[in-house]
Amino acid sequence: MAGEPQDDCLFCKIVAGHIPATIVRETETTVAFQDINPQAPTHVLVIPRVHYGDIASLAVAEPAVAADLLHEAGEVAVQEKLESYRVVFNTGSGAGQTVWHAHAHVLGGRGLQWPPG
Ligand code: IMP
Repeated sequence: MAGEPQDDCLFCKIVAGHIPATIVRETETTVAFQDINPQAPTHVLVIPRVHYGDIASLAVAEPAVAADLLHEAGEVAVQEKLESYRVVFNTGSGAGQTVWHAHAHVLGGRGLQWPPG
């Protein structure tokens, strides 16, 4: 069923506590944790507890949770004291998506180039 945990999903396992993660924030609907392969001094992933393959699918099915995710990305930036930062949703393998559970990258703590590669 849409939104239900998937046995083969890494981020569902982090939500369930079956795989360890360095959690920096949690809400009723989201979990934020350190990326295991940080691309900036601050690199936090914000994910919904519910399982959708990407941000667009989440936004269509559960727009309130997608809004929570954006809110939490901003809260991570405040908590990490980031003056400038980037929120990224890699969507599709051609854009670099490798984990098929919706997630926002919050990147900051260094200068960020535009456009991204
Ligand atoms: P994507 O490439 O946009 O799908 O982002 C997936 C992110 O998940 C990458 O930045 C990975 O470094 C990160 N990642 C993969 N496995 C883990 C883990 O076990 N803990 C934390 N981050 C992870």
